Amino acid sequence: MVKLCPQCGLHVHRSRAKNFREKLIRLFTRYKAYRCHECGWRGWIVDDVSRRFVDRRKQLRVILGVLTTVMLALLVIYVIRTR
Ligand SMILES: [Zn+2]
Repeated sequence: MVKLCPQCGLHVHRSRAKNFREKLIRLFTRYKAYRCHECGWRGWIVDDVSRRFVDRRKQLRVILGVLTTVMLALLVIYVIRTR
């Protein structure tokens, strides 16, 4: 499915997520980052042909990663405070 630039109307290309916040947006919403090579526009467009199953597995991986980080942080705080 071809996406068009809202500024100049030409084809846009998928843009990589630049940081963690953008990765979260990409994983938990149906928005994908796009960039226009003609005018330099960059923004988010709803991707209505996203494969839900693949997205679910990615979401699970991110949730597990965040949970692991939180658990480790809590463990560190616990160790520091009980010294
Ligand atoms: Zn453009």
